[in-house]
Amino acid sequence: MKRRLLDRLLLPARVNAVRQLAPRMRHITLTGAELAGLTWQPGQHVRLQVGAAPGAVDWLVGTLRTYTVWDYDGENLELIVYQHGDDEGPGADWARTARPGDELRLMKPEGSFVTAPGAYHLFAGEETAQVAYGPMLRALPATARAFGCLEVDTPDERLDLDSDGGPQKNWDLRWTFRQGRPAASATTLVDAVRALDLPAEPGVAYLAGEARTIQLIRRHLTEDRGWPRRAIRTKPFWTPGRKGLD
Ligand SMILES: Cc1cc2nc3c(=O)[nH]c(=O)nc-3n(C[C@H](O)[C@H](O)[C@H](O)COP(=O)(O)OP(=O)(O)OC[C@H]3O[C@@H](n4cnc5c(N)ncnc54)[C@H](O)[C@@H]3O)c2cc1C
Repeated sequence: MKRRLLDRLLLPARVNAVRQLAPRMRHITLTGAELAGLTWQPGQHVRLQVGAAPGAVDWLVGTLRTYTVWDYDGENLELIVYQHGDDEGPGADWARTARPGDELRLMKPEGSFVTAPGAYHLFAGEETAQVAYGPMLRALPATARAFGCLEVDTPDERLDLDSDGGPQKNWDLRWTFRQGRPAASATTLVDAVRALDLPAEPGVAYLAGEARTIQLIRRHLTEDRGWPRRAIRTKPFWTPGRKGLD
């Protein structure tokens, strides 16, 4: 494996398993001695070296892309990468070609996009955001009330967000399907949130995924429903024309 300056700060790991979870969802398990005993909070992400970069940048860090940790058992770290198909870059390429035994380096789990106490929880986002919402939902106390609006292109791309008994819990998760419409500025997702019969008082909202859609949903919550901005946690994962948001 090629050595870069930042390698001293990064953890070495290798691909343990790769699974095609859905037509455009690659489930990749990473393992390695340095991945044992990491601190992880559901909703946090890791940054991976997914390939080379031009010139001096390559010598420094290579190309980094950020992925939410879907699950971590104290040794193996699971990621789910969406093959977005529009002008795919090094992250999607890495996921498509990753094979068991491949070596790579990554940073420890980090980030503040994690659940917070609230009267209830509201999750909204698309394919990439659902990767964060799975572990966040699983980590909620059994009595927590949760609402969710998830939008994916086709029903095949849904992740199993409530396999551990979600239907028996106080959760109301709704799905909409774009059927080829763009995921950026997705008004159908905003309309789905608008249609929710939420309690009168604000809860805590988690908005991840495409940046412009996040802005539209935040505006709806603050302007139409009177939520304070501090009750809304946002994490843009991507937006058209921008490479490798962090
Ligand atoms: C905190 C955080 C967590 C993230 N977690 C995940 C995750 O769990 N799973 C995951 O798949 N991604 C996740 N992402 C997005 C991921 O980091 C990459 O941005 C994504 O995989 C695209 O990388 P790329 O190298 O293929 O494309 P880039 O080189 O980054 O971009 C190339 C082009 O593709 C477009 N593009 C990028 N993503 C999409 C998309 N989803 N749909 C349509 N067009 C797109 C860009 O706008 C750009 O025009 C996360 C991002 C952040 C910041």
